[in-house]
Amino acid sequence: MIDRILSWFAPHICKGCKVVGNTLCNRCKNYILDQKWHRCVHCQTFVNDHDYALRGNLCRECSRKLPFSKVFVVGERVDVLKRLVGDHKYFSERASAQPIAELLVATLPNDLPPGMVIVPLPTIPKHIRERGFDHTKLIARKLSRIRKIPINTSALRRTDNVSQHSATFQKRRQQAEKAFLINPNLKSTSFLLIDDIYTTGATTIAAAKLLLQSGAKKVWLGIVARQTSFGNAPAPNSTSTPPHKPALNIDRVL
Ligand SMILES: [Zn+2]
Ligand SMILES: [Zn+2]
Repeated sequence: MIDRILSWFAPHICKGCKVVGNTLCNRCKNYILDQKWHRCVHCQTFVNDHDYALRGNLCRECSRKLPFSKVFVVGERVDVLKRLVGDHKYFSERASAQPIAELLVATLPNDLPPGMVIVPLPTIPKHIRERGFDHTKLIARKLSRIRKIPINTSALRRTDNVSQHSATFQKRRQQAEKAFLINPNLKSTSFLLIDDIYTTGATTIAAAKLLLQSGAKKVWLGIVARQTSFGNAPAPNSTSTPPHKPALNIDRVL
């Protein structure tokens, strides 16, 4: 409501083309979805259509070692998607939760396993206090409302208060293993874990392992943006070009 009133005085502007109205216009939303980032969330190798239909953004090799049954990634963390996720996360732009959730809805398959419950990856409490809201939980709530899938926001609880930004993968893994507590009274056995950015995967992997150790049979993962080693350069087999130049300095949050 407050956001709606504020948008009268300071209307939202599309992250891609600067059109006034929303933080992501339909044209730019379709542009992101048209990229179809069919790579493995973990090792980033190309996933062919057959394997994508089986496991989404998870290659055969990684499916053997990671605790996820299927993974779905909206796209690579570059240009428009990078600004959308970055301003939502680092500049507390709540209005972007809706278009981000809509991107996830369009990326997830239509048929989800019966009884599946959404679990947002818990945010570090210090960051929630700084932002004034839990950005991942907000996205997950919107997703739950649009797709009419139940959400459990108390399945996992964050116990650490340390950001992993600059930690090495080894260090991240050690920290991540102690980062969560699980609710011992989980009723569901099928979960859709939601997180905004996937970098090394240390925290999401630790959370999914905990769910499996606590009786889960299936853990799917929904990710908005994959931080890649390609940075802002086009991916090796990418032939598409952005429809417009970035409106802002997108690297400022890094
Ligand atoms: Zn636009
Ligand atoms: Zn892989």
